[in-house]
Amino acid sequence: MKKSLLLAPLLFLGACTNKDEAAKTDGTIVTTVGMIGDVTRQIAGDKQEVINIIGEGTDPHTYQPSKSEIDKIQKAGLVLYNGHFLEGKMGSILKSRAERDNPVSAVAEGLAEVELIGNGDHPDPHLWMDLSIWSKVAGKIGDELAAFDPDNANQYQKQCQEYQEKLNDLHTYALMVFPTIPQKQRVLVTAHDAFSYLGRAYGIEVRGIQGISTESEAGTKDINDLVSYLVENEIPAIFIESSVPEKSVKTVIEGAAEKGHTVKIGGKLFSDAMGPAGTYQGSYIGMMDHNITTIVNALGGSAPEGGFQNKLND
Ligand SMILES: [Zn+2]
Repeated sequence: MKKSLLLAPLLFLGACTNKDEAAKTDGTIVTTVGMIGDVTRQIAGDKQEVINIIGEGTDPHTYQPSKSEIDKIQKAGLVLYNGHFLEGKMGSILKSRAERDNPVSAVAEGLAEVELIGNGDHPDPHLWMDLSIWSKVAGKIGDELAAFDPDNANQYQKQCQEYQEKLNDLHTYALMVFPTIPQKQRVLVTAHDAFSYLGRAYGIEVRGIQGISTESEAGTKDINDLVSYLVENEIPAIFIESSVPEKSVKTVIEGAAEKGHTVKIGGKLFSDAMGPAGTYQGSYIGMMDHNITTIVNALGGSAPEGGFQNKLND
């Protein structure tokens, strides 16, 4: 009897604290990876302050947010993240937010099963590599913004549609330039498996040197198999990534050289992070334009050096 009397007020206090915390947001929108941050800014325009956590050249699979970043995530009015375990080390902090009923949304989840690559429980998280899929994610971000700030819903919807049209133009460009690569050379070899969606969308075989996550080291046998494959198929170039160490790529190039086949580095691709803030490559469209144009030209196809809107050399 005595016990329950003591417990009751404590439970009440606990519930009260949770509610207060849920209300204590600063109205900002926090995003995890740049590809979500940029799309959110494009759609939100000047109506919202968007804070992106994982910056240029940074690997989201292993990223540990700092104390002040955790604070920003806790205080934000709305948090938008990719999901599908991309933000592998941020799961508990995102979950704790959801438990306090603060708005948080995994914008790349909830797509139709047919869109996803990989097994049902752990699909490949790199959905931004297919512009037609990322356009659907942009639609989802637009919906989240409208729900968060209904007064400006019409504006978000309009800006979302305009942005989706640009994504569609770049998608069309990719569909046009990829087939210019000679058939036999339509193979993209890169440091980790970030490009499967790009491969499926634009008709190029993708081989990663590492597995899906950047956390596992590539095995020696995998490297040897890959070297043999490159030599047999006379693949002219492989690629490095801005957010992944170059070591394993160099091992492959040296292995091919020992077998008398020259493989060059076809360029640096943006896999899980965009380029420097304020540059064209520091936007989602610029990052994808760079990737598409670089791959096509390095593998013997022909794409305009300046990319689909002649902005790559600015
Ligand atoms: Zn990745």
